[in-house]
Amino acid sequence: MTRRAIYPGSFDPITMGHLDIIERSAKLFDEVIVAVLLNIDKQPMFSPEERVEMIRSINRWDNVRVSTFQGLLVHYAIEQESQVIVRGIRAVSDYEYELQMALMNRRLEPRVETVFLMAGEAYSYLSSRLIKEVFKLGGAISGLVPESVEQRMREKLK
Ligand code: ADP
Repeated sequence: MTRRAIYPGSFDPITMGHLDIIERSAKLFDEVIVAVLLNIDKQPMFSPEERVEMIRSINRWDNVRVSTFQGLLVHYAIEQESQVIVRGIRAVSDYEYELQMALMNRRLEPRVETVFLMAGEAYSYLSSRLIKEVFKLGGAISGLVPESVEQRMREKLK
């Protein structure tokens, strides 16, 4: 049986913290689907298509593919024959929300298990939201997002 995991999120944009989770998931599972959630944030910096394209361009793993989804995550997981949902936990503040989601998803679909990976210590304070905020105010974000993502952010702000 192929062990397949879905790593869902907004990824607006993808950060080094996300990449760290992808890298570690790719070692744990046969296949990983990075799934960009459609239509959640009404004013995203990047469209879902742009986010997918950015993640694809930095995807260096043979067993990782990038896709989009909408609707219930567990429906998408079943459709993709994925037994696992991967989420990252940064701080206690993530825990409560993630616990709620994991328990609801388990109730909706007990065949899908949520697996949590602790954030890499170097990235545990990083969020896409904070990076966008700092960047818009002129702060340096190099090393926190891939070079190509920083370039795309610069183009967006022009
Ligand atoms: P969402 O909108 O679902 O929170 P995000 O793109 O913000 O989507 O995050 C997707 C997943 O990645 C979530 O599980 C989140 O906790 C995790 N994550 C976000 N940033 C980091 C980070 N710096 N380190 C580890 N995990 C992270």
